[in-house]
Amino acid sequence: MPTECEYCGNALTPEEVEHPEPEGNICNSCYRDHFEFDCCRCGNPEHIDHQHVFCAVFEALTGLGGDVEPGVYELVRFPYYADGVIEGYVYHESFRRVRDLDFESTDDYPMGHLCRTCRKDLKLRQSKVGRELQARQKETSQ
Ligand SMILES: [Zn+2]
Ligand SMILES: [Zn+2]
Repeated sequence: MPTECEYCGNALTPEEVEHPEPEGNICNSCYRDHFEFDCCRCGNPEHIDHQHVFCAVFEALTGLGGDVEPGVYELVRFPYYADGVIEGYVYHESFRRVRDLDFESTDDYPMGHLCRTCRKDLKLRQSKVGRELQARQKETSQ
């Protein structure tokens, strides 16, 4: 019976031993760091498998091919951003605008990702291109 977190080596709590995650024997804090993100709309944690699907842009992002204005977007191409020498930038064509922004961010980032619950709330539907992108992504990560 494993009693230590595979990531940080700390002792697991009895609950963590009893209910292991599909990803392995991992403490709650490492699980949050490695496998979860916080939704930018409701602030709830969501699994990273669902992170790079729909995003909200709160402040215009510098983009190659044009800036990405505030709004809600589906990501339709990877990678969607690049690290620059001074500042990173995004690829304009990776963003498909799906609706206007009518909520505020729960943190200070100019861009955030949406959980599945918020996607449903906002009635966001994946495009064919987006679905194919996610399917390819799954294949390469396995
Ligand atoms: Zn840990
Ligand atoms: Zn949410």
